[in-house]
Amino acid sequence: MLYRTEGIVLKTSLFHEADLIVTYLTKDYGLLKVFAKSPRKIKSRFGSSLEPLTHSRISFWGKQDAALPRLTQADIIHSFESLRSSMRSFLMISEFIELTINFLAERDVNLRAYNLFMSTMHSLEKDHITDFIALFYKIKFLDIVGFLPKLDACGRCGKEGEIFYISHGTILCKICSGGALSSFKLSKGAMKFYAHLLTWELQSLSRLKPAEAMVVEISSLIDEHMKYILQKTFRTSTFTVPDSLNNRMIYL
Ligand SMILES: [Zn+2]
Repeated sequence: MLYRTEGIVLKTSLFHEADLIVTYLTKDYGLLKVFAKSPRKIKSRFGSSLEPLTHSRISFWGKQDAALPRLTQADIIHSFESLRSSMRSFLMISEFIELTINFLAERDVNLRAYNLFMSTMHSLEKDHITDFIALFYKIKFLDIVGFLPKLDACGRCGKEGEIFYISHGTILCKICSGGALSSFKLSKGAMKFYAHLLTWELQSLSRLKPAEAMVVEISSLIDEHMKYILQKTFRTSTFTVPDSLNNRMIYL
């Protein structure tokens, strides 16, 4: 059966000698791996449409449950050439790509994640590339996949607190923390900044100038939080929640 959608190339890897496996983030099929037959031999067929970050209209062929359908056509909508050729943007986007591949399940349609990725690419192309945009992307993405850290109050009793526990994915008050390790003390300013961040839209970011110290503080917390989730949740062959974790807290 022939399928059609549009998507952006997240990565390609060599398959056998001359073939490629292309990982797309697509509109209608979520994360999708397809197989491209000898793209280098038949250059005119796919042209540069398989370069990372190329947004294309694609067709692929295979049975409904085929693990690796075959890419039959890819027509470029937008190449994002400037993002690919700048080292700074490419490194930043590589991190987004890694998150997307790790957090989304294959063939699980996620229009919010797709729209966030596409609109962030367009916005990076137009505006300056800043750590603020990277932080914004990560927070919105964590919200979509259900791993947003809770930084407004104790995640257990709702009382005030200022210490974030990586292992719980939330702030905990003194009483509720009960000797938990891996903590992160937050400034009042950073907590306020984070609350605003959750309400802002991508389109308004270029008009905002947050204090660099706030961006740094929340970025390092978010990076630690993601590292923890990725190690605990996705990099293990069998997924188990340690007893010490409160399931509700880490949103599993
Ligand atoms: Zn508490």
